[in-house]
Amino acid sequence: MNAPAQLVDRFARRITYLRLSVTDRCDLRCAYCMPERMEFLPKAEVLSLEEMHRLSLHFIARGVRKIRLTGGEPLVRRDMIELVRALGRKLGDGLDELTLTTNGTRLVEFADDLAAAGVRRINVSLDTLDREAFARLSRRDMLPQVLEGIAAAKAAGLKVKINAVALKDINEAELPSLIAWAHGEGHDMTLIEVMPLGEVEGDRFDHYLPLDAVRRDLERRWTLVRSDATSGGPARYVDIAETGGRLGFITPLTGNFCEGCNRVRVTATGQLYMCLGGEGHVDLRAALRSADPDGALSDCFARAMGEKQERHSFVIDQPGSAPAVSRHMSTTGG
Ligand code: SAM
Ligand code: SF4
Repeated sequence: MNAPAQLVDRFARRITYLRLSVTDRCDLRCAYCMPERMEFLPKAEVLSLEEMHRLSLHFIARGVRKIRLTGGEPLVRRDMIELVRALGRKLGDGLDELTLTTNGTRLVEFADDLAAAGVRRINVSLDTLDREAFARLSRRDMLPQVLEGIAAAKAAGLKVKINAVALKDINEAELPSLIAWAHGEGHDMTLIEVMPLGEVEGDRFDHYLPLDAVRRDLERRWTLVRSDATSGGPARYVDIAETGGRLGFITPLTGNFCEGCNRVRVTATGQLYMCLGGEGHVDLRAALRSADPDGALSDCFARAMGEKQERHSFVIDQPGSAPAVSRHMSTTGG
């Protein structure tokens, strides 16, 4: 049998990175991400962990070398560590890196298991160190668990990167101390602009904070030295002389980074989205469950590569604008 075709889109971008959402459910309700009464998918529609594993193997056979498990909150899915273990066995055998993005609430329970399965680095999302602000923003009073989780990850030998969405009037004033804390703990940190994905209760415009303004503010305080470091992703990095740590900026709104896009996303129901900012998708679940999964998946992948759009076009430039796409980040897999 011929080796399956590698994933290369019509702009000659090679797809080597899969972000797989293992669940759309979450134990927090971050206000910029989802409404309090978020409607979650019926469990029957979600792929089994065994199907997610099989699907991942198809991606690896087609050139994917890095898989990030995400969600929703990946660690709220029961038994998801079994998927981590199964994929961990592909490390060094097609897969270079297995990682996850988590809100940290369950890391105390899972940090050791993740490390034992071969995970080396994780991203933990943390927007504030103020317990009240955390409870208000995430609508759950869980900062202590998150901080314990981050400490457990560090103790388990996992390299932690802290990701924070920069939000006007919410964590704007606190960003320097959040960065100083992360660097003091030995964690890299990345700031992210809020993106117009899915309806939420408030207006994202009210809290949208362009990162060029944040950067100018940080430059008045610290010495930012441009770094050539790259994670193969959209972040641009600086080293901060005074804190001795690295800071990334992800600027989907003020600086488009789609040219070098190497990734695709699969939702918990097996829908392959070629772009976070587009509606284009193909149904891998139907292909996986068909009589000829290999053939059907090959057709899906060929279609996806033919349709992957060149770039997203996010804007948050006036109050009340509709989201760029109706899906929440927690559905597509952040
Ligand atoms: N629950 C996990 C977490 O929070 O890390 C993983 C999924 S979450 C959707 C992944 C990342 O997306 C988080 O860092 C979160 O802050 C970010 N995110 C969610 N909605 C966003 C939005 N509308 N704009 C920018 N980032 C968003
Ligand atoms: Fe949950 Fe992550 Fe969305 Fe917050 S950002 S509500 S932790 S999925």
